[in-house]
Amino acid sequence: MAKHTWDLTMNCKSAFIYAEDYKSYHFRTDHPFNQLRVQSTYDLLKSSGALSDTQVLSPRTATIEELKLVHDERFIEAVIASSNGQLKEQDAAEFGLGTEDTPIFSGMHEAASLLVGGTLQAVDYVLEGKGQHALNLGGGLHHGFKRKASGFCIYNDAAIAIAYIRKHYNVKVLYVDTDAHHGDGVQWSFYDDPNVCTLSIHETGRYLFPGTGNVNERGIKEGYGYSFNIPIDAFTEDESFLQIYEKAFREIMDYFQPDIIVTQNGADAHAYDPLSHLCGTMKIYEYIPMLAHELAHTYCDGKWIALGGGGYDIWRVVPRAWAQIWNVMNDQKPFSGSLPKEWIDKYQSKSLVPLPDTWHDQPNFYKPIPRKKEITEKNEQTLNKALQFIWNRYNKP
Ligand SMILES: [Zn+2]
Ligand SMILES: [Zn+2]
Repeated sequence: MAKHTWDLTMNCKSAFIYAEDYKSYHFRTDHPFNQLRVQSTYDLLKSSGALSDTQVLSPRTATIEELKLVHDERFIEAVIASSNGQLKEQDAAEFGLGTEDTPIFSGMHEAASLLVGGTLQAVDYVLEGKGQHALNLGGGLHHGFKRKASGFCIYNDAAIAIAYIRKHYNVKVLYVDTDAHHGDGVQWSFYDDPNVCTLSIHETGRYLFPGTGNVNERGIKEGYGYSFNIPIDAFTEDESFLQIYEKAFREIMDYFQPDIIVTQNGADAHAYDPLSHLCGTMKIYEYIPMLAHELAHTYCDGKWIALGGGGYDIWRVVPRAWAQIWNVMNDQKPFSGSLPKEWIDKYQSKSLVPLPDTWHDQPNFYKPIPRKKEITEKNEQTLNKALQFIWNRYNKP
């Protein structure tokens, strides 16, 4: 049952957390994780006339005490040592530092702490009541573990922000992760906590990193029943993705009744993304924030924090997908029509592929998926398995 009705005419106030220094989170030139995405999204919004300077807030740097809300002290010390070029070899292996995925770079502690501080800034903005929504595209590093760096993530800003919300504001948090990869680090951080519910919709871990996120991962102890996973099949397309997302998000909102929503908006479920095997189009990135926005107003007085995440086609996909989150936050609808020429002119020379010139994708830009029906049915079964827990509890069909 909805707590409040949502007035469509209301004006929402939002903050865009951003600094050019976000680009200092940089592993090496040939690494797929590239924070130029955040800058090009900022530029796209500026060129579209959708972002004013008064809406932009600079991130702060998270303190060691704040990092310790989730991370082990020895891990933080190892990151600081790496950052200064002094990490011992045995510590590198123990803490997941200096791997192919998460190489060491000078200043990595400072760069990672800034991304975390940006997400904490977003939390304070919303929970101090300065506005309803905040967006930190530099964050969403959902694979960071308590004592291990993993999958391009050093400190887990999403998990730290949720722990910070619990400590300073004591409200119930729903975390919704639509990155193509399982939101493992956030899930394990709150696996026994009944005040934090996590929902992750991702490509099945059968062939994809990190391999977890099975439908049976439901939480432990007091936290049992507050972790939801919907692993979807490779080659899943828009209709099935959106059906799963909408049904799961609505049911879990109704069941959990959170006070605030934190979304992780990895943009790597698109057909162009080189690291996943899903077949989404811009359609999913237009609808994902629409539903989050609607439900935040229906259940949480609008309280919604959105973060970035994965996304490795940094030219054709990520800037458009992430700009839509901001437009939905403020204008309640996604952009449509042509992209601003100013933006295309600025970025075309940097990009190795032709940039799109419209907000929506062109129809039929990828090869038809022959197993579509089978994939859709399989995903529906997985969704039902995930939600059966809620239905059993309320004896619903
Ligand atoms: Zn709003
Ligand atoms: Zn991802």
